[in-house]
Amino acid sequence: MKVTDHIINANGDTMFSFEILPPLKGQHIQSIFDNIDPLMEFNPPFIDVTYHREEYVYKKQDNGLLKKQVVKKRPGTVGICAAIQNKYQVDAIPHILCGGFTIEDTENFLIDLDYLDIDNVMALRGDAVKSETYFKPDPDGHVYASGLVSQIEDLNNGIYLDDELLNSSPTNFCTGVAAYPEKHMEAPSLDSDIHFLKKKIKKGATYIVTQMFFDNKKYFEFVDKCRKEGITVPIIPGLKPISTKKQLNTIPHRFHVDLPQDLIMEIVKCKDNVAARQVGVEWCTQQSKELKEAGTPVLHYYSMGRSDNINAIASQIF
Ligand SMILES: Cc1cc2nc3c(=O)[nH]c(=O)nc-3n(C[C@H](O)[C@H](O)[C@H](O)COP(=O)(O)OP(=O)(O)OC[C@H]3O[C@@H](n4cnc5c(N)ncnc54)[C@H](O)[C@@H]3O)c2cc1C
Repeated sequence: MKVTDHIINANGDTMFSFEILPPLKGQHIQSIFDNIDPLMEFNPPFIDVTYHREEYVYKKQDNGLLKKQVVKKRPGTVGICAAIQNKYQVDAIPHILCGGFTIEDTENFLIDLDYLDIDNVMALRGDAVKSETYFKPDPDGHVYASGLVSQIEDLNNGIYLDDELLNSSPTNFCTGVAAYPEKHMEAPSLDSDIHFLKKKIKKGATYIVTQMFFDNKKYFEFVDKCRKEGITVPIIPGLKPISTKKQLNTIPHRFHVDLPQDLIMEIVKCKDNVAARQVGVEWCTQQSKELKEAGTPVLHYYSMGRSDNINAIASQIF
């Protein structure tokens, strides 16, 4: 079922959902099920599965020279989505990127999803590959997520890349897109970022999931701004409990978000990561309570491969 229909059917109740990463190559899929199993009691209507593009690694050869290799460390997004739908009868939402995809690759990826009865897709541009500073699109790929949204919408209207196809079958995807309450790192301003967010909606996206934030005020202000700009689709907040002391530095660096001073001081005081994880759970629980009280349709948690802390939060909220 489409995310938008899940929201309509919930009749104003706040739902629980979460995002998982495919396991590192070589690990068994059971590691994913072990994380999902304890969260099923909170009845997630959908589970997101991230997509991880290729990376460049340099391997030393016998002659001492380095050889550049392209590797995908976390393949399997589509397979995991199929396995989740099969095992749990819950909608799985694959993330799909512009980066590393030609438009032909994109079309074929979407055809696979359609055959697998996947009704939703999260359309993203993707970041630069790790060894590069800026995002470089594939020469035959999309430059921005809005182009990807348009291609999905075309398929929903039965328009394939080959315009000579006869009786082409339309897909029926519900498309989500990303947004950033604290602005995307490359955007010159929040207003400019919202301008391009609106473009993704105009092209056919029907819901939004936000980047993580640690101060609900940022989310509420962002939603107000979007509404004033005429964006009316659901804006689902993305939430991440801090789980280690080191994340005080890695989260702002990696995700370009601010941490509130009170949270920083609480984490700084922690003796170890066990204590920091507990502070992260308490902070995120407070955020979740306030968001639920405000009538937010879905609370979407970034599990990052471990679900015990998400479980601790959800058991107090749902
Ligand atoms: C909920 C969520 C899930 C994510 N999942 C993944 C994942 O699974 N895998 C992964 O690799 N990454 C993921 N990301 C990260 C995402 O790929 C990066 O943040 C990426 O840098 C931007 O993606 P986007 O879809 O927001 O890009 P876009 O919407 O294309 O925007 C990128 C930048 O370009 C600007 N822009 C947009 N259109 C135009 C235009 N026409 N002209 C000029 N500027 C423009 C925007 O303001 C923004 O600054 C996720 C992010 C979020 C919030």
